[in-house]
Amino acid sequence: MTDCLFCRIINGDIPSNKVYEDELVFAFRDINPQAPTHILIVPKQHIASAADITAENSAVVAHIFEVIPTIAKNEGLTNGFRVITNCGPDACQSVRHLHFHLLGGGQMADKMA
Ligand code: 5GP
Ligand code: ZN
Repeated sequence: MTDCLFCRIINGDIPSNKVYEDELVFAFRDINPQAPTHILIVPKQHIASAADITAENSAVVAHIFEVIPTIAKNEGLTNGFRVITNCGPDACQSVRHLHFHLLGGGQMADKMA
């Protein structure tokens, strides 16, 4: 989708600070980090949000969770990390392409919302 920011980052139209890529997944540093390490992990396939995950496209979500330990290890997140996906207006989703925030590098707040 050429009007989707993250599709444009994945295809290289918009530059990003890439930390991982394979045939299914692209991961890059968030432009406005909210933790010492803040990475966005996205499927290359355009899926709008967690509300749009189905039996047909869920394999890429499983794959994302398979690569998260590799990315976390590469980033030195040995003391833990947090994975978040915002879905829809109540959760303040601002980019309508499914993405998982990988946050770490320091002690985080106990509450998530
Ligand atoms: P959301 O609010 O949808 O859960 O997360 C969207 C994230 O994308 C935000 O944390 C925001 O900082 C990040 N973001 C927005 N535009 C860009 C961009 O052009 N490049 C990068 N690397 N991150 C972006
Ligand atoms: Zn997209």
